[in-house]
Amino acid sequence: MSQNPPELRPDLAPAARLEGAARPGQPTIGMVSLGCPKALVDSERILTRLRAEGYALSPDYAGADAVIVNTCGFLDSAKAESLEAIGEALSENGRVIVTGCLGAEPDYITGAHPTVQAVTGPHQYEQVLDAVHAAVPPAPDPFVDLVPASGVSLTPRHYSYLKISEGCNHKCRFCVIPDMRGRLQSRPAHAVLREAEKLVEGGVRELLVISQDTSAYGVDRKHDAQPWKGGDVRSHITDLSRELGRLGAWVRLHYVYPYPHVRELIPLMAEGLVLPYLDIPFQHAHPDTLRRMARPAAAARTLDEIARWREICPDITLRSTFIVGYPGETEDEFQTLLDWLEEARLDRIGCFQYENVAGARSNALPDHVPEAVKQERWDRFMQTAQRISEEKLAARVGGREQVIVDSVDDEGAVCRTKSDAPEIDGNLFIDEGFKGLSPGDMLTVEVDEASDYDLWGRPVGS
Ligand code: SF4
Repeated sequence: MSQNPPELRPDLAPAARLEGAARPGQPTIGMVSLGCPKALVDSERILTRLRAEGYALSPDYAGADAVIVNTCGFLDSAKAESLEAIGEALSENGRVIVTGCLGAEPDYITGAHPTVQAVTGPHQYEQVLDAVHAAVPPAPDPFVDLVPASGVSLTPRHYSYLKISEGCNHKCRFCVIPDMRGRLQSRPAHAVLREAEKLVEGGVRELLVISQDTSAYGVDRKHDAQPWKGGDVRSHITDLSRELGRLGAWVRLHYVYPYPHVRELIPLMAEGLVLPYLDIPFQHAHPDTLRRMARPAAAARTLDEIARWREICPDITLRSTFIVGYPGETEDEFQTLLDWLEEARLDRIGCFQYENVAGARSNALPDHVPEAVKQERWDRFMQTAQRISEEKLAARVGGREQVIVDSVDDEGAVCRTKSDAPEIDGNLFIDEGFKGLSPGDMLTVEVDEASDYDLWGRPVGS
């Protein structure tokens, strides 16, 4: 699981940036947000509401009247990290409200930390706010409690996550998210678009579309249509992506499953409406392993699909994650995955070694793979992935690319190309001619150097 930015980790960044210092007497809340970008969006929503109600935000434990810990419960290691974060917040501050995925198991939390003020589950915004009101009553001041129209964003101002749905209708055996987050619930298309429009008006230049299953967006709503800008827009990922693309920001799609209708998204990428980037969690390539995982689209001929996408949009960047050492994975199955990877030549690759998660159905499968074998397969997999990444990046040297600037200091500018999602992919570094650049700027660079995962370049225009 990715870590959220330091702004949401008082334990990691005591001097972190948070908007709005507290005025005397203003109730103040701290937040520790763990887990994936979806949890980060929940944290942002909670804090947006609290700011609207007149609370200030504290970047450290000492300045907060209470601390919210937004937990992750995806893997046992994430659960342990969540419990540790709760313990730390209790000892540093004392008033702690727990929310997020692990909040679906209140006894697990109160068993370890009986003094927490309240435990609420994932996306229970109202309950979190009630718990905050009980612990630290609001003190509204209508003259100063102005919320920016775009809400409070804890990601840098130039990019923002946009959550389009919650929950998942699948039952992958290794995953407990549907038990924690429930079945798919898509937001109405016009609500997503309104939020996106406000974000863009507020200075956001890149929208990161997230959900548990982005390509299933709107299935639960039977793809109903909502009025938008004098016409109608369906709650369907193709229609939503097209409209998002018209807002003028970069639009990056995460967690897209390889259903056949994903093909309809690729022309939008070729047209430049949506970034030519697909984050598509394949998890494995052997049909038997995929069946044992109970993956959606297990029977899809993914190599054929990938070839078709590349035909329509040759520049497309494909990112994916995989699990090695899944119960019952034979050397043959693993070798199929490696061969598939050689052929698919994905651009960005993450890989986990399988681990049991409390409550997951895969725990009961026979033939668990020994730890040493998992490690050995992971090493082989990552060596291949690294070589492919290196070769693909080397081929970009000499070319020109548009980049977005994430940060600038005395030594240079850290940027991303269209192929790089924040926090999970590589960077393009500019170490000469970067004076005058600011976060959020977009410019064209000529790539002059490449490593395994990153690029270097020099500005050649805006
Ligand atoms: S698609 Fe599978 S892995 Fe993804 S959230 Fe749903 S059940 Fe979990």
